[in-house]
Amino acid sequence: RLNIRKITTGSRSLDELLGGGVETKTITEFYGEYGSGKTQLCHQLSVNVQLPLEKGGLEGRAVYIDTEGTFRWERIEAMARALGLDPDKVMDNIYYMRAYNSDHQISIVDELFTFIPKNNVKLVVVDSVTSHFRAEYPGRDHLAERQQKLNSHLHQLVRLAEAYNVAVVVTNQVMARPDIFYGDPTIAVGGHVLAHTPGVRVQLKKSKGNKRIARVVDAPHLPEGEAVFVILEEGIRD
Ligand code: ATP
Ligand code: MG
Repeated sequence: RLNIRKITTGSRSLDELLGGGVETKTITEFYGEYGSGKTQLCHQLSVNVQLPLEKGGLEGRAVYIDTEGTFRWERIEAMARALGLDPDKVMDNIYYMRAYNSDHQISIVDELFTFIPKNNVKLVVVDSVTSHFRAEYPGRDHLAERQQKLNSHLHQLVRLAEAYNVAVVVTNQVMARPDIFYGDPTIAVGGHVLAHTPGVRVQLKKSKGNKRIARVVDAPHLPEGEAVFVILEEGIRD
């Protein structure tokens, strides 16, 4: 656990739950139903990684791998402005990449092994890490093959995190009605994809209005409990 650094999420309560923020040298999975805040957190971390060390950042750049086309520069602009940062500079420091299928997603990550050390990247986001794999290997018929491909991709991301001391953040949408998908460990609630990969698993749940609840699952080194945060126009806050 040498040289591990942390990126603030924008919420003190969520940072505390994570032991100070999202860690480098490891993979952090945010999983939860639609609208639970996974993509908003990914946007916020891409801004916050650029903050000075004393403000919870790593003075580094972000790589944002978008598989669903839900990235919005306007959100980055609003979040940067709310922190008193120059939105143009903040946008310049985010390398946006759209992954069109699972093979493309895997090859983008392969290329990061040469790209990251040259570009002061401190955060890699994959939002969502599962969508292409689910679409291309649907249902229980393809479950074994999907899990094998996904696990190998996740291990590649873990190696990247460890090799270059970067934080890797992945998202995974799980269904609000797990009973429908009983038996599929990548879709059911509680079925985070990191089952066979070391890393931090964070379950997100919708609460009243803009409130969201986060819970860390299966992390012996982190305190048990929940964090409440809100999603505002300005970004993620307490
Ligand atoms: P999915 O699984 O569908 O990808 P998600 O977990 O990624 O969902 P987000 O897109 O992060 O969910 O969250 C969407 C929610 O974020 C919206 O329902 C809204 O409450 C909030 N939100 C998005 N943009 C803004 C904004 N500009 N101002 C305030 N809240 C916003
Ligand atoms: Mg999303």
